[in-house]
Amino acid sequence: MAAESSPFPGRRHDHDACISEGLARAEEICRVRRERLTENRRAVLELVLAEHQPVGAYDILERFDWRGRRPAPAQIYRALSFLETLGIVHRIASRNAYVACSGPKEGHGTVFLVCTECGTVAEPNGAGVGRSVRKLADDSGFELHTHILEVTGLCPECSQASGV
Ligand SMILES: [Zn+2]
Ligand SMILES: [Zn+2]
Ligand SMILES: [Zn+2]
Repeated sequence: MAAESSPFPGRRHDHDACISEGLARAEEICRVRRERLTENRRAVLELVLAEHQPVGAYDILERFDWRGRRPAPAQIYRALSFLETLGIVHRIASRNAYVACSGPKEGHGTVFLVCTECGTVAEPNGAGVGRSVRKLADDSGFELHTHILEVTGLCPECSQASGV
């Protein structure tokens, strides 16, 4: 199966580019929303952007460079909640951890593909799925609050490695 259009990052992708694109997108979102990407928020985002696997708040707390200051967990939680509210990071509930948004395209934050082997999470275009779920809810007279789907399986590289 061709992985050309796969939302998964290839093994040899330019990860530095991922990080700088992610930071640039966050700056732009904050600019539009008239919010500030403070030093703390930016540092937390960099730790989330460092990996394509979800990062837990506790890991961020451990990796955060406090530069001699006393660690203040509340600052980390506040920064994460700010980034999540703006759709800059997404919470992966099944992992109780966060991934950086892969781009605020249509239907983003709706479907996440979670590789059970390497833990990589990809965010495909979820517009169609989002519409289906909303229709399902409407047809059921159900008042929808959230419609985030986390789908588990093997990413292209892990499925190739396992010879499926
Ligand atoms: Zn990357
Ligand atoms: Zn997103
Ligand atoms: Zn994988």
